[in-house]
Amino acid sequence: MKTVKQNAIKNMIHTNISIILLICIVLILTITYKYITYKKDVQASLEVSVDVEELYNETKWEENKRDKDVNSNTSDWELLLVNKKHNIPETYSIELQEIESTHMVDKRIAEALNQMLSDARKEGLSPIICSSYRTNEKQRRLYNNKVDEYKRQGYGLEEAKELASYWVAIPGTGEHETGLAVDIVSKNYQILDEEQEKTQEQKWLIENSYKYGFVLRYPTDKKEITMINYEPWHYRYVGIENATYMKEQDMCLEEYIEYLGQFEIEEYQEELI
Ligand SMILES: [Zn+2]
Repeated sequence: MKTVKQNAIKNMIHTNISIILLICIVLILTITYKYITYKKDVQASLEVSVDVEELYNETKWEENKRDKDVNSNTSDWELLLVNKKHNIPETYSIELQEIESTHMVDKRIAEALNQMLSDARKEGLSPIICSSYRTNEKQRRLYNNKVDEYKRQGYGLEEAKELASYWVAIPGTGEHETGLAVDIVSKNYQILDEEQEKTQEQKWLIENSYKYGFVLRYPTDKKEITMINYEPWHYRYVGIENATYMKEQDMCLEEYIEYLGQFEIEEYQEELI
């Protein structure tokens, strides 16, 4: 009787163990399945997020990419870039025209310049040209004078040259030698300093010169790029379309040339393909 009872207990234990094992196996299988499904989901979501990121970057790039809004090219005559890094081309030749009786400028800008001065005068203003086309020799003389001025103040030659170059362009790198630039001041205030910007003439010119194709070439906030001090009197002809775009986009000539140049690189690359 005791053996029968023991056997019954043993059977019961075996059955229970079997049930527990079965439950464990089911549990393990369920967990494994869940884990695999989870891993797949994570992988899928990662792939999606990479795609989203790529998409985002592409969209952003497209947004940042500017369209070419003007029909100009960096090789256009009115966009000649002359600065410390870009000398006037050796082959450069100018056809000069007299303006305001005593000044000479590139023939191609004379009409626009006359019109600008004439319109300013109609507003009751008195702008006068104080500097226009300069020969290389004259530029050299002005530059050397400025260097001497700094030397007299105690600067060494190299330092004096560097300081002078921010006020008077190094010969061969000055816009006055191109005939495309003029210095205009108020008849009532003819000193070339920052106070010039407060005159009614400069206020009008800074606001309106773009309509005639001129830009204030060396703005105060672009000194790092132009490497010339603020000159609220030096106007450079670039053409109406370019001047308008530069004013709208707040670009100095160096920035504008870079902007146009990027399209030319793209066009060149497309030609190669
Ligand atoms: Zn000037």
